[in-house]
Amino acid sequence: MAPSPKQYDYIVIGGGSGGSGAARRASGWYGAKTAMIEAGVSGGTCVNVGCVPKKMTWNYSSIAEAIKAGRHYGYDFGGNVPANFTTFVEKRHARIKVLNGAYESNWAKDGIDLIHGTATFVSPHELEIKPNDGGESYRIAAPKICIATGGYPIKPEGIKGSEYGITSDGYFLIKHLPKKMVFVGGGYIAVELAGVMNAIGVETHLFIRHNTFLRKFDPMVQETLTNHYEELGVHVHRNHPGIKEVVQLKAGKDETDPREKELKLIMNDGSEMVTNELLWAIGRAPEVRGLGIENTGIKRMDSGHLLVDKYQNTSVEGLYALGDVTGQAELTPVAIAAGRLLGNRLFGPPEHNDDHLDYDRIPTVVFSHPPYGTSGLSEPDAEKKYGKENLKVYTTKFSAMFYDVFPPEEKKKMPTQFKMICQGPKEEIVGLHIIGDGCDEMMQGFGVAIKMGATKKDFDSTVA
Ligand code: FAD
Ligand code: NDP
Repeated sequence: MAPSPKQYDYIVIGGGSGGSGAARRASGWYGAKTAMIEAGVSGGTCVNVGCVPKKMTWNYSSIAEAIKAGRHYGYDFGGNVPANFTTFVEKRHARIKVLNGAYESNWAKDGIDLIHGTATFVSPHELEIKPNDGGESYRIAAPKICIATGGYPIKPEGIKGSEYGITSDGYFLIKHLPKKMVFVGGGYIAVELAGVMNAIGVETHLFIRHNTFLRKFDPMVQETLTNHYEELGVHVHRNHPGIKEVVQLKAGKDETDPREKELKLIMNDGSEMVTNELLWAIGRAPEVRGLGIENTGIKRMDSGHLLVDKYQNTSVEGLYALGDVTGQAELTPVAIAAGRLLGNRLFGPPEHNDDHLDYDRIPTVVFSHPPYGTSGLSEPDAEKKYGKENLKVYTTKFSAMFYDVFPPEEKKKMPTQFKMICQGPKEEIVGLHIIGDGCDEMMQGFGVAIKMGATKKDFDSTVA
């Protein structure tokens, strides 16, 4: 007879942003007997192939930009400043290793049982664990299970040879810069990574299906940043017909080194292009592969994401889901907050019985060049929600003082642009959009104000 499964109060599947927030709150704060199962590397997407390496690489590219700007300030470097991308990547890998360890030691301090393995539901409250070390599978069970399995980057279906391209996961393995790189997509990842590669001297092509990128955001942002990327030297292929076939002419040395790699891209309109690397950034899918969701009865959305209510309850009693696997504002702080609030609600004192994350007015930043921060609605969405007649929109555009010493034609191109969308007689701010150097950091403070329901008058009465 099979041994009965080890019992926990709470099992969290996934040791990424959301899973960590959920397990630490339940175990560390409230003493719930908690197991966390992680199939990959501790810390999940954000730490290993998301926010952290992305932001570090963005910082690396910001230094290149500052060095270029330096010549206008009288720093004469006399030609190119030698840069070693490989050294940087090794430092980045090392930093991530430290973070992997920090996550695990925090989980241990909080009394969480970390299981390195893959979890599969065999029934709604019982999981089969396949250990990563090849050991024998076994079962664990709990009355409450939180699914925080995240997502994965997709490649297009039906394009011959699409497997020769990489995704953002593969991007973070690159240690040697290709000469030329093509990005397909128009969202956060395509814009962030194409911007970085262009800034560090890679011939960068961005294929977008429409006339502008970042189409989920305000039209001002789409226009300003798409135009500015062209001014920066990114080859933006607007209204691109799409790739029909990818032919590998030459393989790269390995996944870290695409310098010798040669891909021929054959487009739907018959045109062709040869590139060293191709990156698909066309979105992410919920990670439920092999999770045995069919053994739970959990309802899913058409997109495949797990369906949850505002309390992160799935359609099955005692099963919860949060973070990217639910497709709700796929951002790290969102997943962490949802996990913590769920922990409060499930294991905390009665005053937390109603704890849940409010998904309204979540600030976010696109680490473009320059960065863009926003909270609330775009102008078209605000018009839909409140009616055009009830809105007042304030905009301003200028060039930051940093560029005062630049030649006028270059200075003119450096955008700082703000839009504030206000609603009703009190002019409550329902959307804020800021583009420009420093806007990434600036957004956090504005995020608090807007969440609190700040009005235009509040902003006016704040001394600059
Ligand atoms: P994840 O962090 O993906 O964690 C899920 C974990 O579950 C993984 O570690 C996985 O191995 C594990 N798992 C999956 N299935 C199983 C199973 N069956 N058994 C056991 N374990 C399993 N967000 C921001 O807020 N700011 C940014 O700047 C930012 N930049 C990003 C840049 C890139 C390139 C990408 C890809 C994402 C970025 N994000 C950013 C988004 C952010 O990384 C995600 O929203 C966040 O990591 C989601 O957390 P999660 O806990 O839902 O999932
Ligand atoms: P997004 O959903 O943001 O963007 C993908 C875009 O690719 C779509 O909007 C679409 O744009 C375009 N696209 C889709 N299918 C195709 C296709 N077949 N061919 C060409 N283009 C296509 O996904 P990302 O992969 O960029 O990022 C995933 C999520 O990760 C983000 O939504 C965000 O939540 C998170 N993230 C957050 C970051 C941050 O906080 N700074 C950074 C990176 C990721 P269109 O319709 O215009 O063609």
